[in-house]
Amino acid sequence: MARDPRFDPLFEPLRIGPVTAPNRFYQVPHCTGMGYLRPQMLAEMRGVKAEGGWGVVCTEYCSIHESSDETPYPCASLRDDDDVSNLRLMTEKVHAHGALAGVELWYGGHGSANLYSRATSLDVASLPNDATLGVPAQSQAMDRSDIRAFRKMYREAAKRALQADFDIVYVYANHYYLLHNFLNPDFNRRSDEYGGPAANRVRLLREVIDDVAAIVAGRSALAVRYSIPRDYENDPKGLLECFSLIAELPDLWDITVDDYGYEMGSSRFVREASNQEAMRKIRSMTSRPVVGVGRFTSPDTMLAQIAGGIQDFIGAARPSIADPFLPQKISQGRLEDIRECIGCNVCYAHDSLAVPIRCTQNPTMGEEWRRGWHPEKVTPSHADETVLIVGAGPAGLEAACTLGRRGYRVTLAEAETELGGRINRESSLPGLAEYARVRDWRIEQLARMPNVDIYPDNRLDTDAVLRLDSQHVILATGARWRSDGVGRWRRQAFAGCEQDAVIGVEQLLDGFNPGGHVVIYDDDHYYLGSALALYLRAQGAGVTMVSPQDSLGGWGKFTTEHRPAMRALIEAGVQVVTARGLVEFADGRAEFECVYGGARTSIAADYLLPISARVSNDELWRELDARRDEFGTAGGLSLQRIGDCRAPGIIAQAVFAGHLAARDLGQASIGPKRDRVVLS
Ligand code: ADP
Ligand code: SF4
Repeated sequence: MARDPRFDPLFEPLRIGPVTAPNRFYQVPHCTGMGYLRPQMLAEMRGVKAEGGWGVVCTEYCSIHESSDETPYPCASLRDDDDVSNLRLMTEKVHAHGALAGVELWYGGHGSANLYSRATSLDVASLPNDATLGVPAQSQAMDRSDIRAFRKMYREAAKRALQADFDIVYVYANHYYLLHNFLNPDFNRRSDEYGGPAANRVRLLREVIDDVAAIVAGRSALAVRYSIPRDYENDPKGLLECFSLIAELPDLWDITVDDYGYEMGSSRFVREASNQEAMRKIRSMTSRPVVGVGRFTSPDTMLAQIAGGIQDFIGAARPSIADPFLPQKISQGRLEDIRECIGCNVCYAHDSLAVPIRCTQNPTMGEEWRRGWHPEKVTPSHADETVLIVGAGPAGLEAACTLGRRGYRVTLAEAETELGGRINRESSLPGLAEYARVRDWRIEQLARMPNVDIYPDNRLDTDAVLRLDSQHVILATGARWRSDGVGRWRRQAFAGCEQDAVIGVEQLLDGFNPGGHVVIYDDDHYYLGSALALYLRAQGAGVTMVSPQDSLGGWGKFTTEHRPAMRALIEAGVQVVTARGLVEFADGRAEFECVYGGARTSIAADYLLPISARVSNDELWRELDARRDEFGTAGGLSLQRIGDCRAPGIIAQAVFAGHLAARDLGQASIGPKRDRVVLS
């Protein structure tokens, strides 16, 4: 298919200082949980993005010195010659596809606790550590000799960046790291030539830009990553004034807003292109090319950015994770094949856990090297065989798609009228509409596969499965929520759990409108609790949420959902109670005990909604497993269960399980290989 000429502006090359980007698709620096620890995984993953058409592909934050060490998080690093060799692997793979490679040179300041190196962090002042771990330590306020040493670190790292063949070298001046902190009067109270008016606060950044520019001159472009206020009309920190003083110095500006939860907010709370007006403002203040993110997945929105003069490049982290081939698909006129990011931030959550990122929509993310998975290529089936998949939730849909692409003859049976499983219910909740993309993209793909037959409204039992006589059977029958409170905190059902006033998650999502006052007991700690609370409030119910942990929805801290979810709950008038475990429900009161001291409290409740653990729908599996010897004439080559039917988990895990089962069918499983140093 040919490209719609409307999108041509997205494919125009653009000069960035001495180098030229082949198009406007720019993968901005983004964390991977791979970094210096897993260089082969990293290089392969970045290379795949270049192959998919991203014209610029950058590293994540890249440490320039031992005193900028964010262990246990594995950032990239350019601290010595070994780092140069490892990162050259990435630049080679990026260059092989005609893209430019960028490196984001990073110094953490009070944002790095240096837990491995035990070096002292340097910063504009002595500031308490402000990294995810909140280590009880402070940085050292830099004196003039520290400033000289810091500038030298940047110069040395810039030289190494050239050795590693990077085309774009970043000076990183946002996200509350050192260079930002000099700009920010909340931190910078210095009385020397680096403190006070904007011209002084911007001095160090200007010096570092000049230093790096002198080194990379003519060979690489110099980019600065910089943040401006989200509400740019209101600039109490003077970030725009500082910007105006250096607006023409770099070859490119990579702009974010100074609120990380907004910059990469989850789709529950932040929409596509949400920074657009701030970007327009900055674009008017410089003649240099500008790039910014906005979780762009719509080609029309992208076009509006470029054609409307809002920015010069389409900056992307998450859209490039969800679909590394997004640019190529636009270029080939295959818009319906774009696998759109759903904004769940599961990718970021895993970086926040210091492990390689993964993606709900793209199960190959992070598996390019260690399992040899390519997002667009699969191994054809080895034989003309039939596969029956039971259940069309995320796991079953993904298995069907991938087996269909491999050329198997696939039958997908689903009990409900609508395909989608848990997605159907959950995406109807406030803020979760984009989760439907997990279902819709796969249904769209399947509709074009003549070798896949889909049977909705077909609840299969054991006899039906045996009658169908497929050579491979994959059970993806999902899981259901418990309503007896058994979960992390309780190991046994709570007293009174059998009453009608105890409602189940599915009951609620299937349309039951309780009214009155509902107490939600949330021992799941992810998005469902707060989403259901907001849903109930919207229906007019009074809601109290109780958690046995110290905060509500604690896992949401990894996905950036926690703070906005709390804000939304408070604004909606939801009462929040923490550190209380559910004990019993009797006489219209839910009774809890303090998880520390055991003191009892009770809350009046018309209804109690426990959200704790789930139970696999594995009845079919157990029956079939017991009757394996009855598998019919076709031979019954394999029977397996996947996704929530095997072990309940997040949607990303179900999609991954479906993909893994489909990739491995009929062939030896590859990996996961381990990316590590081997002593010889
Ligand atoms: P997962 O996240 O593992 O994909 P879901 O719960 O989202 O699991 O989806 C499971 C799907 O399986 C649901 O749509 C459910 O209706 C369907 N299902 C469960 N049991 C059967 C069955 N016996 N026959 C057909 N479909 C089934
Ligand atoms: Fe988007 Fe979620 Fe994938 Fe991250 S994990 S890229 S937010 S779909």
